[in-house]
Amino acid sequence: MKAKKKTKQRERKSDALIVYCAKYSKRPKLASVRLDKKLVNMINTCRTRDKKLELQTLITTSMLREKVKHVLGEPCKYCGTILDHNNISLDHIVPLARGGNSSEANVQFICNICNRQKDKMLEQEFKQLKELINSFSEISRIYVNRKLSMNGGHYDLSKGTQTESKEG
Ligand SMILES: [Zn+2]
Repeated sequence: MKAKKKTKQRERKSDALIVYCAKYSKRPKLASVRLDKKLVNMINTCRTRDKKLELQTLITTSMLREKVKHVLGEPCKYCGTILDHNNISLDHIVPLARGGNSSEANVQFICNICNRQKDKMLEQEFKQLKELINSFSEISRIYVNRKLSMNGGHYDLSKGTQTESKEG
């Protein structure tokens, strides 16, 4: 009985996201359920990381549900990839390692590849690096982007150059 109630509640919450998932997905219902699970995981990851650093987690899942609506189907601010429930990730604008915290003002949604590449960089540093990389020849650009994306250790090299295709 209780579990049923919980499932229903979760479905209702993901229902609110369906209309936004419909912007890019042919199966918005499924996309919204997956997205909602992802948001819950994001909060849990934040809590774990914050706890280690003895920081308070100031964002909540409902906060993220509201925030995500504005970026779904929109381009990643750094590379232009359209953000969806598969590639979206939560970035600390000022990284925790650089004194940032998990507050609404300090988190943003970007694509998972840019998030891995940005790592412990500040926004300005990452933008400068992206600009520099974009001035390289195509081969060098692909090579450097790939190397940077390997940070975190789970980048699938066989998938190749998905970040570069959307860039100029
Ligand atoms: Zn990106």
